[in-house]
Amino acid sequence: SDSGLIVSFGEMLIDFVPTVSGVSLAEAPGFLKAPGGAPANVAIAVARLGGKSAFVGKLGDDEFGHMLSGILKENGVNGDGINFDKGARTALAFVTLRADGDREFMFYRNPSADMLLKPEELNLELIRSAKVFHYGSISLIVEPCRSAHLKAMEVAKEAGALLSYDPNLRLPLWPSAEEAREQIKSIWDKAEVIKVSDVELEFLTGSDKIDDESAMSLWHPNLKLLLVTLGENGCKYYTKNFRGSVDAFHVNSVDTTGAGDSFIGALLCKVVHDHSIPEDEARLREVLKFANACGAITTTKKGAIPALPTETEVLSLLKP
Ligand code: ADP
Repeated sequence: SDSGLIVSFGEMLIDFVPTVSGVSLAEAPGFLKAPGGAPANVAIAVARLGGKSAFVGKLGDDEFGHMLSGILKENGVNGDGINFDKGARTALAFVTLRADGDREFMFYRNPSADMLLKPEELNLELIRSAKVFHYGSISLIVEPCRSAHLKAMEVAKEAGALLSYDPNLRLPLWPSAEEAREQIKSIWDKAEVIKVSDVELEFLTGSDKIDDESAMSLWHPNLKLLLVTLGENGCKYYTKNFRGSVDAFHVNSVDTTGAGDSFIGALLCKVVHDHSIPEDEARLREVLKFANACGAITTTKKGAIPALPTETEVLSLLKP
């Protein structure tokens, strides 16, 4: 591929997902061990699409940590930015599938290895080579990971990378919108691309209206592109010069996990390919159509990582 490196920063973990919905993990007849963590999903989404991808984060030096780093490598993601913590264990998420299809998460994080990444452990050479630096760690509020996060952003920015942010707000970890906004401020204000889901938009604005006004209340001067994903309703986009929406594809959705990660990974692939965020609206809409197609395909299979599409799969959905 002709494209530059996309570095994703954050956590990778294992989701324990019950095989049936409506009961807790402990009551389920069985469960699956699904690798996940939004930033890691994005790293794999990029690699599947043929982009150059690296993951930066910390895993436990345990069975799960080595399994996860193996999955990144098998999928063609550069692992030179992975650290292993000698003491703490890899993060785990225990999932409950509610009867209405929503998911609830309980995290093993007391602390997990991802929270212990230190600024001095960062692979700065790798980060400096990024064309795009994408971040969205759920550990950004805890030290030392917070300092590592801020340093990685700063180094990437100084080296000329475009910064992309997906807050991945796991609501149980964020007691209030004010606290969330305060905690993510220094991270939010530096991003040139931000992707939020409709649920995050509602949470961050404290409004139950998903309209242009509430989206634009999140705007900041460095921002070039704000995206709001709307599940089966596609996405909305906001730039300095234009705004609009792009419809989703009709597919047979079985599990929406990872759709947003697939969407942003696809968008970033196009941004590195074009060497910039599209400046004309027609190109932006074409790119978002591609990203919507990636998101849609990701919902047609169970799990996040197994469902992330190759470019060939996307092109066949896009064929008229
Ligand atoms: P998140 O995973 O962050 O909640 P969304 O569910 O909004 O994000 O999904 C991201 C994108 O994936 C959407 O903008 C849409 O293009 C696509 N997508 C998600 N769910 C569906 C669906 N049920 N049918 C078609 N496309 C979908």
